[in-house]
Amino acid sequence: MAYTISERLTDRLKFAHDASLYRLVPRAVVQPRSADDVRELLLQCGRTGQHLTFRAAGTSLSGQAVTDGILVDLSQHFKRCAVEDDGRLLRVEPGVRGGMANAVLRSYGRKIGPDPASIMACMIGGIVANNASGMCCGTEQNSYHTIDSLTYMLADGTRIRTADPDADAVLRKEAATVHEGIAALRDEIRTDTAMTDRIRSKYRIKNTVGYSLNAFLDEDEPARILGRLMVGSEGTLGFIEEVVFRTVADPRHKITSILLFADLDDACAAITPLRDAGAAAVELMDDASLFSIRRLADVPDAVRGAERGNAALLVEFMAETESEASTSMTTARELTANLPLRRPAEWTTDPAIQASYWKVRKGLMPSIGAMRPAGTTMINEDIAVPPIHLADLVRAVHAAFDRHGYREAIIFGHAKDGNIHFVVNQRFETADDVNQYRRFMEDIARIVVNDYGGSLKAEHGTGRNMTPFVEMEWGTQAYGLMWRLKKLVDPRHILNPGVILDTDADAYVRNIKPVPSVDPETDRCIECGFCEHVCPSREVTLTPRQRIVLRREEVIEPALRGPIRRAYRYDGIDTCATDGMCATVCPVGIDTGSMIKRLRGERAGSGITMRFLARNFDIVDAASRIAQTIAHGTAAAIGADAVESMTAAINSDYRGFPTWHRHLGRPTPIGSGEPTTVDIWLMPACGSRWMGTREDRTSLVDLHIELARRAGLRAAVVPGCTTMCCGQVFSSRGHDDAASIVAERTMERLSVLSDGRIPVVVDASTCAATIEGMTSEHDVDLLDPIRFLATYILPTIAITEPLDRVVLHPGCGTAHLGAGGLMRSIAARCARNVVIPTSSTCCGMAGDRGLHYPELVKSAIAEMSREIDAIDGGIDGYYGVNVTCEAALHHHTGRHFEPLAALVERVTRQERNT
Ligand SMILES: Cc1cc2nc3c(=O)[nH]c(=O)nc-3n(C[C@H](O)[C@H](O)[C@H](O)COP(=O)(O)OP(=O)(O)OC[C@H]3O[C@@H](n4cnc5c(N)ncnc54)[C@H](O)[C@@H]3O)c2cc1C
Ligand code: SF4
Ligand code: SF4
Repeated sequence: MAYTISERLTDRLKFAHDASLYRLVPRAVVQPRSADDVRELLLQCGRTGQHLTFRAAGTSLSGQAVTDGILVDLSQHFKRCAVEDDGRLLRVEPGVRGGMANAVLRSYGRKIGPDPASIMACMIGGIVANNASGMCCGTEQNSYHTIDSLTYMLADGTRIRTADPDADAVLRKEAATVHEGIAALRDEIRTDTAMTDRIRSKYRIKNTVGYSLNAFLDEDEPARILGRLMVGSEGTLGFIEEVVFRTVADPRHKITSILLFADLDDACAAITPLRDAGAAAVELMDDASLFSIRRLADVPDAVRGAERGNAALLVEFMAETESEASTSMTTARELTANLPLRRPAEWTTDPAIQASYWKVRKGLMPSIGAMRPAGTTMINEDIAVPPIHLADLVRAVHAAFDRHGYREAIIFGHAKDGNIHFVVNQRFETADDVNQYRRFMEDIARIVVNDYGGSLKAEHGTGRNMTPFVEMEWGTQAYGLMWRLKKLVDPRHILNPGVILDTDADAYVRNIKPVPSVDPETDRCIECGFCEHVCPSREVTLTPRQRIVLRREEVIEPALRGPIRRAYRYDGIDTCATDGMCATVCPVGIDTGSMIKRLRGERAGSGITMRFLARNFDIVDAASRIAQTIAHGTAAAIGADAVESMTAAINSDYRGFPTWHRHLGRPTPIGSGEPTTVDIWLMPACGSRWMGTREDRTSLVDLHIELARRAGLRAAVVPGCTTMCCGQVFSSRGHDDAASIVAERTMERLSVLSDGRIPVVVDASTCAATIEGMTSEHDVDLLDPIRFLATYILPTIAITEPLDRVVLHPGCGTAHLGAGGLMRSIAARCARNVVIPTSSTCCGMAGDRGLHYPELVKSAIAEMSREIDAIDGGIDGYYGVNVTCEAALHHHTGRHFEPLAALVERVTRQERNT
């Protein structure tokens, strides 16, 4: 058996939650590595009758990615992704994130068709199995319509590649009953004109309720009909092993505006003309939506100026060429000149302004989520009607909010497709709460289905949430067909039971997830899962969402508090890098690392020693230098292999004991004495001081001084820097007070030296980011290494011979500083091709944590390492902006990562040419 299986309590509990309102605790969690593993698992379940649920990123909103059976986690493997036919096709496995697929396609000017708002986090398996869609893709570019072929596996292990010419013969041979049954259903549907018409009309608008019955009309051969049925089947018909997408154009030019209207009628009347004029996105925001975000910073005037009763449309045109863009701009202006707007339309092509508009739209759901009262669940519903009925639908839903007592509710959505989302905050503590939700949902179902012939789920999938309403929406006959299909393909009912079809009319109000009040970070979390892919510990212990989920589980299951807490010490607390990468992508801005630092602080005691060391930091500095010197000296005497194995062996017996490896540099000699005149102060970070000297005996400090010299600047090391630190070494251990002491002192000293005129370069981006966040206002022009190179070096010195291709690792500090783009542009001046691996995130080194928990670094960079391995052709160098991270990357990837300054030094080896 090659797959890993875990029945450990916390492994089961951490997967008991997805982004929906349901909670089911799996019996076991399995991580298959290959399709053969999945086959073995399916056969095993077929024999024992146990049921299983596939899970990709677990961002589903309707309860289809949780189970009380076996949870099959696909997120760690199934990562192959290959571009074919010059970007027109993408062959991809289910564990690849949608954002990663698009990053791979970007240089071809292509992307995948489905565009859920969750695309950076969700994975191909879930995108296809939910038939997810978004702002632009409409009904034409979803997975159903853009999949060229796929490989799937049935519950009995039969494996079909729809691209193979003999796919149908294989199905007939391997699964004769299924083949025959699908052919019979096809013939029955096709000879029933009323049913054929019904199916066609249901898919004129977005619809993910029930099975994709249109497959019986769009394909002829049973093997290919089944292939199409897999799309939107939510893991209830088989395993999707691989998909080949026909990609779509990714237009570079965008023209965007937010249009404010007096009321919903005016806004809805503008939708058709805008769509007919070619608008790619038309997003509606009702007045409650606009009011929910007016308080945020940098809100566009059209939103800030909204009044009660108003409505807005965010409209975007896209074009592939500049001339098409200019035509679209003219069209947009002419069109909006005739619309009854509350303020004149302002169309923009500025990416920064466009991003601020989309931030508003995408921030709607999180902003309601973040503001919700503690103990309530945020419910995000997803309905569609023919666009002509949109204004009436919105009014009817508003009336339903009033009837059922939902005051903080908002409506927004993809107006051009008649698809809206509404968000309500619901308490599920008492039977009355549950009944309130039940009555509301029944009312909504009646409005959408009976009054407007719409879909109760346009994009989020049926899940558990809509099972009682599938028959109401589709009618008894079509519902019967769906049940026959399920029983035919999965006769033992082992695939995700309770999802899409369920005989229990109360299924949607069972297994509701309790949301107890725990602490400020946890209470705000909406469990969307957007933070998981950036977290360095995601493959070794927990993701940020799972850290939060287990905090909730302690309260949900008080009897399990002891075992949860014991496991949490290592899984939750020790192996969090506290790098705050999660905060950079969390829609409600939660920094799980802060929560973990607080928990470390609670565990760490009074911190008297730490405060002493913060005040006398030169003791820490000297001790660390001595330790490094001894380690290097011992390695010289008995061999680096011996020291590495010895420290690794102790670490495996005593978790947390620091390991050593040969790629950690030697201490950098820091001279004393105060130079009289300088143009730039260099503040070597701890890592640079204690291990910043490379094998060739040059240090990062030398590199920066040399580059400054080439640029005609006098640079010198900050006097007394051995007493200075950004404080991370303390804060990451939960000693914020000690961290503030040393960081504040450092900044005070730097202010004096800088005297408001002389810039100070902190030579590690993480430390520059930390010290800025840690300290109060100081009059220091503090620069991280990227800004130093961009501002003071590159404008002045000439590049002699650019390299061909380099790889960059921006890291967490650069992400916090928002300097990734600048780092890329520096590298792009020094090399013709710059590669930033799409899976590159924090390396997990987190100061010295990666030495205490090397498994954290190993897992954090495993995906990136595979990506680098897959790069075709030679690479001239690997560069980062933090000495300790570079050492860790070197050790764990086998590639020599160096400071970005080394790249600039390498391509400017010539005297200044000004
Ligand atoms: C804030 C937020 C915004 C969202 N916005 C959108 C949106 O705009 N549009 C939209 O459509 N959705 C949206 N979603 C819902 C969700 O993100 C998408 O439907 C997404 O495609 C689910 O992908 P996933 O990787 O998380 O799948 P999961 O949730 O892990 O799984 C989804 C389903 O697919 C099945 N599955 C997964 N892999 C396989 C496989 N290999 N074989 C068979 N079955 C499989 C699972 O069993 C499950 O039933 C949003 C969610 C959140 C939290
Ligand atoms: S921490 Fe933020 S990103 Fe992560 S699950 Fe919670 S709300 Fe979503
Ligand atoms: S701080 Fe870093 S390691 Fe900790 S949960 Fe957030 S992303 Fe993961």
